[in-house]
Amino acid sequence: MRAAFIRQFGGPEVVQIGQLDRPNPGRGEVLVKVKASALNHLDVWVRKGRPGAEAKGAHILGSDAAGVVEKVGEDVEAFAVGDEVVVNAGVSCMKCAWCRRGDHSECPQFKLLGFQLPGTHAEYLVAPASNLGHKPLHLTWPEAAALPLSHLTAWHMLFPRARFRVGETVLIHGIGGGVALAALQIVKMTGGKAIVTSSSDEKLARAKELGAAHGLNYKTGGDVAAQVKELTGGRGADIAFDTVGAPTFPISFAAVRRGGRIVTCGVTGGREATVNLQLLYWNHISLIGSTMGSHEDFQCLLPAVGMSHLRPVVDKVYKLEQYAEAVRRMESGAQFGKIVLDIDA
Ligand SMILES: [Zn+2]
Repeated sequence: MRAAFIRQFGGPEVVQIGQLDRPNPGRGEVLVKVKASALNHLDVWVRKGRPGAEAKGAHILGSDAAGVVEKVGEDVEAFAVGDEVVVNAGVSCMKCAWCRRGDHSECPQFKLLGFQLPGTHAEYLVAPASNLGHKPLHLTWPEAAALPLSHLTAWHMLFPRARFRVGETVLIHGIGGGVALAALQIVKMTGGKAIVTSSSDEKLARAKELGAAHGLNYKTGGDVAAQVKELTGGRGADIAFDTVGAPTFPISFAAVRRGGRIVTCGVTGGREATVNLQLLYWNHISLIGSTMGSHEDFQCLLPAVGMSHLRPVVDKVYKLEQYAEAVRRMESGAQFGKIVLDIDA
């Protein structure tokens, strides 16, 4: 089968497109013929050699996929050959105390397709049946591939972690990235109000078309936190939703209300930030980390997407052979939405 893989860590030049053996599903697993696979910043961290990643032999990149069930292993009852599915990349043991209570992404053995396990940028992948969900019918294959990781991450950050409630105001930094856009769509879908930031007026205008209440240009538009306060009647945002890290953390801190929550899942802008602990306790601020989501989040997300007809924003679709071009676009930060590989093309 054709796949995008690495044999060593490094820059974009270490990624090879070539033939690898097709995997076989074991007990409880499913073989999926991949239709489309989306890029994530995780691909870049893995390619560069993030601790925990091993490049033993050929390692297939990619953590997001949608496709058709080609073969089912023993003891798989929930899916049959021909089912159209989306794939949740987070694989957990399903036996430990955390898994039993539904906190799958807190499992000590938690692993991700494309990180510790073979990834999705390939014609076929094997995943546990518990990691599959039925593809929402209204989505195209690229839209379906753009859904799992970004929307699951945003869902888990907003609901179980930041305890988002209907009607609350969420400040979302760096609109244009997959998780930030997913947050905007979910906040809008559930009756919240989103204030988004970007250095691009064009991205802010597109975010408004998607339902953002306000767009703030952090480069040319002045003090973001002060404007958030003004837009919320002097109170501040209920939640600051952060995928950027160091540059946006002080803004989040100044922009949330007393009792506000800052929830973070990414450090594309840098990983070190300082905290004024006095302001943290005095203002009852919660600082919350989050990674991926649970199977329960995934099974709540899919019907919500189906009923609301939410469509993940797809920036551009490339062929598998154009992987280098696709990843360059992602690393440049120019994209608005998810960059997707059409594996069939
Ligand atoms: Zn577990």
